[in-house]
Amino acid sequence: MKIAILTGAGISAESGIQTFRDENGTWQNHDVQDVATAIAVKTNLHKVNSFYDARRRVLKQVEPNAAHLALAELEKHHDVTIITQNIDDLHERAGSKNVIHIHGELKKIRKIDTNQVLETSEDVGLDPSIRPHVCLFGESPFFLHETMKALYECDLFIAIGTSGNVSPACYYIDKINHVVKVPSIEINIRETAITSKFKRIIRGPATTAVAKLVEEFISK
Ligand code: NAD
Repeated sequence: MKIAILTGAGISAESGIQTFRDENGTWQNHDVQDVATAIAVKTNLHKVNSFYDARRRVLKQVEPNAAHLALAELEKHHDVTIITQNIDDLHERAGSKNVIHIHGELKKIRKIDTNQVLETSEDVGLDPSIRPHVCLFGESPFFLHETMKALYECDLFIAIGTSGNVSPACYYIDKINHVVKVPSIEINIRETAITSKFKRIIRGPATTAVAKLVEEFISK
């Protein structure tokens, strides 16, 4: 079975990475306009790079959780594509091979003048020639073609830990319902902006809910 899985910040929450919009989420302590917009790269690059340096440092303190590991296991039994809004590397560290990072990756940076993408685990600091390889507000997501292919070819769509507030990912379920017409499942600890569009809803923390669902699909 071909399964397209959209993941959001909620799948990494139990690993210790803050979500954006929940209580105590990242946006309660930072102004989006200052650190995560295309304009901020032009007007306040140092603040943008410092913000993402801090996010990158967190990666060294966290590990994939049971939900990431379960999805890697699912890939051994089904044709799984993970479309993630997350910029962490926890899917890869759990063993998933087929991961599309539509919002970029914390461990990648980009040269501003040439667009050359480089790998790093370290701080960028004051380097004025470098920016995060992350899709900021006002910029286009990456891998549109690959994402559409995964969505249009899938037999099942699963959304895990996403609030359904961020475009374009919040519209994938509309394509699934109106064009692809395959079953869909939402896993989240609470109702989201797009809950009513899913055929099956599973309420619970990703670590237990995803692991249970994966068991169900492995035994099929
Ligand atoms: P969001 O913060 O808007 O929503 C998080 C969702 O996860 C909420 O619906 C919440 O109810 C749910 N959630 C929280 N804990 C959960 C748990 N234990 N189990 C299941 N669900 C849980 O995040 P989003 O929808 O992914 O928004 C997209 C934006 O957030 C993207 O731009 C993405 O790049 C960014 N983001 C990424 C990371 C990361 O890389 N880990 C972290 C924070 C934000």
